[in-house]
Order: sequence, then C-alpha cells, then structure tokens
Amino acid sequence: MTAGDAGRWDGAGFATRAIHAGQDPDPRTGAVIVPVYQTSTFRQTGVGEHAGWDYARSGNPTRDALETAIASLEGGAHGLAFGSGLAAGDAVLRGLAPGDHVVLANDVYGGTYRQFSRVHSRWGLAFDPVDLSDPEALAAAWRPETRMLWIETPTNPLLSVFDISQLAAFAHERDALVVVDNTFATPALQQPLALGADVVVHSATKYLGGHSDVVGGALVTSAADLAEQYQFLQNAVGAVPGPWDVFLVLRGLKTLEVRMRAHCDNARAVVAALQEMPEVATVLYPGLEGHPGHAVAARQMRDFGGMVSFRMHDAEAAVESCRRFRVFTLAESLGGVESLVEHPGRMTHLSTAGSPLEVPADLVRLSVGIEDADDLIADLHAALAA
Ligand SMILES: *Cc1c(COP(=O)(O)O)cnc(C)c1O
Repeated sequence: MTAGDAGRWDGAGFATRAIHAGQDPDPRTGAVIVPVYQTSTFRQTGVGEHAGWDYARSGNPTRDALETAIASLEGGAHGLAFGSGLAAGDAVLRGLAPGDHVVLANDVYGGTYRQFSRVHSRWGLAFDPVDLSDPEALAAAWRPETRMLWIETPTNPLLSVFDISQLAAFAHERDALVVVDNTFATPALQQPLALGADVVVHSATKYLGGHSDVVGGALVTSAADLAEQYQFLQNAVGAVPGPWDVFLVLRGLKTLEVRMRAHCDNARAVVAALQEMPEVATVLYPGLEGHPGHAVAARQMRDFGGMVSFRMHDAEAAVESCRRFRVFTLAESLGGVESLVEHPGRMTHLSTAGSPLEVPADLVRLSVGIEDADDLIADLHAALAA
C-alpha cells in the first residue's frame, strides 16, 4: 500500500494512469514492466532494517504496484489487493463488529449474499437486503445499529442501478459507512468515491483483469483509518494474491479504458438486436431509456457497460438456448475479452435460490466481449431462434 510514484501521475488522464501509476521502470535494471517478485521474504541489512518489504504476505513490490494503480484509477488514496473479490469484501465486513447491522442491495452477486448469510451472520453480523431504489424500504430497514450500506450498481444479474450520491448522503447522515461493489462498471465508467462512497470493492477477476485468466480482488478508500484497519486485516487474515496474479491484473489494467469502450459499443449493438427478437420478452440494460435506472446511470456512469441480461418467455427456453451458443461461451464469470452467456438461476446465483434475492428462472445473462459485433449478433439469432 505504498504511495510510491503515484503522486507523479495525479494530474494525468485515466488511460495514462492505468499504464503508469505505480508502474515506473525498475530503478535497478530499467525493466519497463514491473517485475514479478516471486519471493516470500526479503533480506534485512540489520534487524528490522530493510528496503520496505520484509515478508511477502505483508507486502510485495508487484502487489504494491497494483495497489497504487487501482487506488489512482478509483481516485482514492489507498488501494489493497486480495486473493479474490470475495476476500476483499470479507476484509470490509471483518471491520464491523458482532451486533452491527448492514443494509445491502437486494440484488447482489450471489457469493456476496452467501458471505453475509452463511459466514458473517454466524459471527453476529445482522443484515437486510433492500430494494435501494425505494426510499421507504430503505428507511424501514434502517436500525440504530446499522453501520454500513452495501451497494452494488449496476447489479448482478438484474442490472438495477442505484443512486450512489443520494444513498451516500442518507447513510452518512446516520453515521454509516458506504461500500460500493464497482465490479460491473469499473473505474473507467464510474467512480464511487467521488460520488460519496467510503470504500470501493472489486472482483479483479472480471473487467480489471479482463482476460479470464486470473482470480483477484481489490479495495480502495481515501480514509486513512479504514485503510489502516483493512491493511491490518489483509496481513492478519492473509487472503493475499500471489505476484503472478497481480502481474496479470496489472497487465489487464493497462487496457481497461479501451476494452471498456469496446465492451460498451458491442453491448449497445447486442441490445438493439435483442430488442428485435420475438424470443426475447424483456431486455435489461441501463442504457435503454425505458430502464428504471436509466437517468441515474446516465448521470453517474460514463457509459452503460458490457453486461446485458434478458428474459425469455419461459425458463425452459432460457436454459435450452444457453447450450446453443457458438461464439458466446456458456460459463460463469464475466468481464473478459471473450463473450460469455449463462443462466443465473442455475449457475452464478444458485446460492440465492429460495431467498429474497432469487432471480427469475427465464433470465439469461450476457457478458458482451470485444469480438466483432456482427458475429455476436449472428450467434444470438442462431441460439435463440432454434
Ligand atoms: C465475481 C464477483 C464478485 C466476487 O469476486 P471473486 O473474484 O469471484 O471472488 C463480487 N462482486 C461481483 C459483482 C462479482 O461479479
């Protein structure tokens, strides 16, 4: 979590910071790319005297580069990398105490919900999933011991959009922390800290890595006290990423901006095609004017993202069409350069079955990749019209 050379790039644009912040050429060798420091320990010249690193769970120069870069991209002062997105979220929740209460969006990543309901609730953390676009529901769920509001926007898999600045004002008036899972939008499209959030969490496995070849997570905050607490937990719990994994995420970050532009353009083309297909009942995409969160998304996001969900006329059609894609690959996860299709009810969100977060059985989710849009649209026609 060292600041390193980050300050030097403060005034630079997003794409420049993605390539340079925390990533100066190696001072010893001149290597242009931050090396993979595959070492578990670091020499000390005297007891307690070292170059800034002692043991690799506590810190590693490759990891520091990623932490500096992601903090810069989110506009925050402190970044921390974790072994997965869920590990980053876990550190944030461990910052709370038994008896504390969290209000969370009623449509969150299934694994996030599972962590609340089956891990942290066992240690006395109370929580309520709420439709965060409904102010009355939010006020009704709020308790004197509510210490955190957990927002995901756009949500996975229903692509609901919540107003971060409005929700942050509500929570801050009541002395609660505001956490935003920014995995779907990425800092290229949405910067929650600037909208009032206290902490941003990421599954770096998705768009930040961008190539479906690594599992990782990160969090960013500007609050020094929170950063210190999370850094303590990162080291004390130990859910840290290895140097090769952070190297891959760093490499992904360099192209984040151009990839997100291509994802958004392709998603727009896919949405337009889906709207013409009789097999499709409803298209869920915040870029659509009829989407209930469209106005908020247009205000708080630079573009509408690469995730598209749609409902078919019945569950059977949704499940059957998933197996007929040839360019889209049937797989969990999202945010890679290749297009993926999945059935959330039976795949990523199975853990929400029977809960208030259960997703519709006729729902199909697309992670629109950056292949040629014409090939993606032809594949949709072939898979859905069978
Ligand atoms: C995948 C995902 C996570 C969990 O991240 P992992 O890296 O799989 O642990 C959290 N939030 C969202 C929105 C996700 O899509």
